[in-house]
Amino acid sequence: MTKVEKVIYSISNSSIRILDNSIPLSEYTPIDLSVFNVEVEGLDISQPDICQLYIDKILKKRSAKVAYGGYLEQRSLYKTYDSFRMQDQAPRNIHLGTDFWAKAGTKVHSPLRGQVHSFGNNSAKGDYGPTIVLEHIAFHRRFYTLYGHLSISSIQDLYPGKPFEAGEVLGILGKTEINVNYAPHLHFQLICDIGEYNGDYPGVCSAKELDYYKNNCPDPNLLLKL
Ligand SMILES: [Zn+2]
Repeated sequence: MTKVEKVIYSISNSSIRILDNSIPLSEYTPIDLSVFNVEVEGLDISQPDICQLYIDKILKKRSAKVAYGGYLEQRSLYKTYDSFRMQDQAPRNIHLGTDFWAKAGTKVHSPLRGQVHSFGNNSAKGDYGPTIVLEHIAFHRRFYTLYGHLSISSIQDLYPGKPFEAGEVLGILGKTEINVNYAPHLHFQLICDIGEYNGDYPGVCSAKELDYYKNNCPDPNLLLKL
């Protein structure tokens, strides 16, 4: 583990739920949306309704309410969007956060104390939609958490510096039309150095960029311990 990973890991010694506190951890189940999952092969999961059907199937089979996963997963989910293609370069298809797939309107809790760094509505199709970035300091180290695919209401009444306590409701999951064109879910990402980004940060990268981004965006499960 790097220094900052150790800091993030040592913030809590128990699991942190990031969605509606009334959903017990026993109702969280891992989901694999990678290109290596044969169950997803042949399904166009870049279509939100097709993706939702697959998620519902997994949730039903395992009597769960939240399906989560996706850190460093290579996905076909983004192939339809121009913004994920770079000219003459490898596609950006490696996912840098953890997704939590649950119903639109589900509450999102701040997993730890922090303050609003920035927020915005990244409304291009395939982007994050309403997004919040929180800034945290733990053991004298500064880092950031990003929450994507929220509702419009989640980014109203915010201002840079607005404090949030651990467990406080930060917002709710947006619907497909708002989130922008995905089955409802939270994209949660850790960011060490956010640079000049405001209310936004890359959530996927190409294989070529992976070394940089995986170092700058540690596994969210270091913090959440699910
Ligand atoms: Zn995501």
